Amino acid sequence: MASTKQVQVLVTDREGSTSQIKVGLDIGGTKTEAVAVDDDNKILALHRRPSGQGNAEVLDTVFTVLDELCLALGLRLQSLESIGIGIPGSVDTETGVVSHSANLAIRKLDLAATVSGRLGVDCRVENDVNAAALGAARLLGSAGKSTIAYLNLGTGLAAGVVHNNRIWPGHSGAAGEIGHIPIQSEGVLCKCGQYGCLELVASGSALSRLWPTAAGYPAAELFREAKAGNAAAAEIQQRFFDGVATAVQILGLSIDPELIVIGGGLSTLGEPLLEGVTEKLTQRALASPFIDALKMTNRVHLLPPGSPAGSVGAAYLS
Ligand SMILES: [Zn+2]
Repeated sequence: MASTKQVQVLVTDREGSTSQIKVGLDIGGTKTEAVAVDDDNKILALHRRPSGQGNAEVLDTVFTVLDELCLALGLRLQSLESIGIGIPGSVDTETGVVSHSANLAIRKLDLAATVSGRLGVDCRVENDVNAAALGAARLLGSAGKSTIAYLNLGTGLAAGVVHNNRIWPGHSGAAGEIGHIPIQSEGVLCKCGQYGCLELVASGSALSRLWPTAAGYPAAELFREAKAGNAAAAEIQQRFFDGVATAVQILGLSIDPELIVIGGGLSTLGEPLLEGVTEKLTQRALASPFIDALKMTNRVHLLPPGSPAGSVGAAYLS
C-alpha cells in the first residue's frame, strides 16, 4: 500500500490547475529521489526512498516512489506528462536500456520500456551525471549561458556538459568522463585498466583509499583532521584539492564553459572544498598569464547542499 507520509509537498494550492506534470527520478547507490514539476518549472513535491539492489528491487523502488509521489499530489500516475530517470551506469538514451550499473548490482535493465509499458507514460533514461548537469543548469537559473559543465565529485569523478539547455553526450556518450584521464603514468592501477587516473586522486573512493576510517565518512574525517593540524591529513587534502583543480582546468580548457558547477556527494564538504580548489587555481593563475586570462576561479561554483539536481534534471529529459 502506498504511503504519502514521507513526501514533501511544496505546492498545495493546485486546485483547478490544468498544468501538465513531469516527474524526474534520480536513482543513486543508496537513495532514490523524485520530484514533480509543473509547466511553470515549479517543484511541486519531493520524495526520497532507499534504493534497492538488482533489477527487481530497483524497479520496485521506482514504482513505489512514483505511486507515493502521485498519491501525495492527488494525481493519477497515468496522467503524468512524462517520467525521466537518471541512473549510474552505461545508458542507451535511445532505447532506455541501462547496463553495467555496478552500484545498483544491475547488469542489464530495460528500464524505459518497463516503466512506460506498465504506466503508459513516456519515459526517458539518462546517465545520472548527465541528468544532474541538466538539473544544475536549471536550478542555478543559468538560462542564457550557452555551456555549463557539471563536475560530479562522488565515489568516482565524472562531468556532464549542458550546451544550449541540452545534454551534450559526445559521439559515444563518453563526453565528460574525465576521471579516467591518466595524470601519472606510474600511478596506482585504476579499475578501468589504466594507471594513475585523475579519479584515483580526486574522488570519494580516492579519499577512502588514502584516509581509511573505521567509522564515519573518510572525506569528512580527513577534512576534520586537516583542520585540527594533522600534517599527514593536510598533505592528502592538498593533493585532493590539486586533483579537483586539475579536473576544473581540464573542463575549462577543453570545453571553455561559462560555469563549472561542483556537485556530487563530496560537495557537501562545502566552503572548505571550494576554498581549497580556488586556492590551487589561483596559484596556477599566478604562475601562468595564459591560465590567469581564463579567470577560472570566477566560473567555479558549488552546488548548494541538498539541491535535487539529479531528479530535477531527469524531469527535463523529454
Ligand atoms: Zn581509470
